[in-house]
Amino acid sequence: MDREKMLSNPKETIRVIQENNFTFQKRFGQNFLIDDYVIDKIIKASNINKDSNVLEIGPGIGTLTQHLAENAGRVVAVEIDNKLIPILEKTLAQYDNVQVINGDIMKQDIGAIFDGNPFSIVANLPYYITTPIIMSLLESRVPADTITVMIQKEVAERMQAGPGSKDYGALSLAVQYYSEPYLAANVPPNCFMPRPNVGSAVIRLSILKEPPVDVKDEKHMFSLIRAAFNQRRKTLVNAVKNYDGLDYKREELEQALRDLGYDERIRGEALTLEEFARFSNKLQGF
Ligand code: SAM
Repeated sequence: MDREKMLSNPKETIRVIQENNFTFQKRFGQNFLIDDYVIDKIIKASNINKDSNVLEIGPGIGTLTQHLAENAGRVVAVEIDNKLIPILEKTLAQYDNVQVINGDIMKQDIGAIFDGNPFSIVANLPYYITTPIIMSLLESRVPADTITVMIQKEVAERMQAGPGSKDYGALSLAVQYYSEPYLAANVPPNCFMPRPNVGSAVIRLSILKEPPVDVKDEKHMFSLIRAAFNQRRKTLVNAVKNYDGLDYKREELEQALRDLGYDERIRGEALTLEEFARFSNKLQGF
C-alpha cells in the first residue's frame, strides 16, 4: 500500500477515527501509533520476514497490522474491543494474509492459533495489562520464538535490570529466566494518539529453549524471589522467614547461605538469577 495511505500517517488515522465516529476507550489502553519511523523500528526489531507467522495483540484500527501484513507471511490479530472489528475489516481489506479474532488475549489458546508452527508475537500492548500479558505468555511457555512489544519505558527498564539497580526485581528475574531481553528503541508520547502520560519503549524478548540456570524446582525458586522482593529492604533470611508461602527456620536459611559462601546478612536484591537458583537448590537438599 502507498505509505501516504497507511494508518501510520496521522492524517489517515484521524480520517478513519472521524469517519467511523470512534471514541477511544481508556479502559482498553487505546493509544494508537501514528509514527512511521517507530513502526519500522518495531518491524526491524522483530526480525520477521515473508515466511513468518505473526500474532498481534490488540490491533486497534490496524496501524501496526498493515505493516505486519506487508512484511510477514501470515498475521493473526486478537482485538478485545468489538467496536474496532468493522473498522479493521475496512482498513485491512486489501490484505488476504490477515485474520482478526474478536476476543481477550488472556482467554485465547495461543498455542493452537498457528497449529504448532513457529510464530512471533508483535504488539503495541495495552499498558493496563502489560505485565500480566507478558508473564502469562512466558510462564505458559508460549511456543513463540520472539515477543517484540511496545511497553512502558519503566517496565522495559525493570525487565532488563540486574543486581545493584533500583529497577531490579522479581519481574527482571522472571523475564531473564525465560528470555533474553533487548531494548530496541525508546519512544516519546507524541508518537501515539492519544498521547500516553508515560514514556514507552520497544523491547524484544527472545525466548530461551532451555533455562539459563540449573534449578531443580523453578516454582520454589520463584517463591524465594517473590519473598526477597516483597520486603527488599530486609535481609534475605528475614524476608524468606516472614513469607507466608515458605516454611524455613532462620538456621536453615543461614546455613544454606553459609554453605554457598554468601554473607548471612545479604539482601535478595544483591543476588543474581544464578545465585537464586543455587540458593533454591541448596535449601531443597540438592
Ligand atoms: N496496535 C494498535 C496500534 O499500535 O496503534 C493499537 C495499540 S493500543 C496500545 C492496544 C490495543 O489492545 C487496543 O486496540 C485495545 O482495544 C486492545 N486490547 C486491550 N486489552 C486487550 C485484551 N485483553 N485482549 C486483546 N486486545 C486488547
